[in-house]
Amino acid sequence: MTQAIQAMRAGGPEVLEFNEIDTPRPGPGEVLVDVAAAGVNFIDTYRRSGTYPMSYPHIVGSEGTGHIAEVGEGVVSWSVGDRVAWHEGPGSYATQVVVKTDNLLRVPKGVSTEVAAAMPLQGLTAQYLATSSHEIKPGHTALVHAGAGGVGLLLTQIIKHLGGNVISTVSTEAKAELARKAGADEVFLYGEGVDVTAKVKELTGGEGVEVAYDGVGKDTFDASLASLKPLGSMVLFGGASGQVPPFDIQRLNASGGIFLSRPSLAWFVRSSEELAKRSAMLFNGIEHGWLNFRVGATFPLAEAADAHRALEGRETTGKVVLTTA
Ligand code: NDP
Repeated sequence: MTQAIQAMRAGGPEVLEFNEIDTPRPGPGEVLVDVAAAGVNFIDTYRRSGTYPMSYPHIVGSEGTGHIAEVGEGVVSWSVGDRVAWHEGPGSYATQVVVKTDNLLRVPKGVSTEVAAAMPLQGLTAQYLATSSHEIKPGHTALVHAGAGGVGLLLTQIIKHLGGNVISTVSTEAKAELARKAGADEVFLYGEGVDVTAKVKELTGGEGVEVAYDGVGKDTFDASLASLKPLGSMVLFGGASGQVPPFDIQRLNASGGIFLSRPSLAWFVRSSEELAKRSAMLFNGIEHGWLNFRVGATFPLAEAADAHRALEGRETTGKVVLTTA
């Protein structure tokens, strides 16, 4: 049997139960993995709450690390015992999960279990945001909301590595300190009453930024759009504060011919080659010391509901990880 966290229906963290289920079997092109640790991501809360409708009971989670326990038919490049991580393995909040080989990464020696669990989803997201959704060029200035969060800390480091500048927003002084340590050039608190656009304009000599990376969504979208230079890029990649309501496309013209995108990781890792290329940059960053994965909190798998409460309550910084041991 396998132990797993199931959302029994759509709702708050209280719908999560720690249950025993039949161990899943790998099909062709799949492997069964003994999970050492699973990454917690905001998308897990959207799927639990019904923001993204699922069929319930739904085993939560999509990312993790562990060792291959069994290979399915036709799998030749992977063997029992290989140490792997994955960005898309539905049902990863479990002691065992089936993952498609197309979604596997080999974890280099020296990378800890916690970092391997933290890396795939937020790391690959930060990588494609800075290189593909908007290609950061030396001298570009980016607005990064929630700069001490999982994606925020990584995105800041990657932008800096590519020669860009970062203006970061956060909710507390402690988070501001982390964003600065990650390399943000300017950090300010974006609480109630703060005019984010005015602050960004002030920090950029009235010009605005080349790109706004916005994973906060509902509460920040308008200010992000207004903070851009003409022909800037508005990259809306999530809705931690809620989803952005329907949008009048003419606003893009009125705001300066803005390029708006609403990307998701899946579109940027459609082939094994692309996944390998993007993850190689992240492993290079770890190896050469320019990319640091901060694991801000670790919970036992059985306490996944507390991990969700912390993430949704804005109490976390960096990555949240669930461990099975
Ligand atoms: P974070 O660690 O960044 O946590 C979310 C942060 O958002 C909080 O810590 C908080 O930071 C900020 N926030 C602002 N308003 C709220 C609110 N009302 N409720 C909760 N949090 C709020 O999470 P992740 O790094 O996992 O994800 C960040 C965003 O990126 C999410 O929207 C997620 O969906 C998205 N994402 C998108 C992907 C894609 O490919 N499109 C892939 C991965 C993630 P503070 O306290 O500083 O305000």
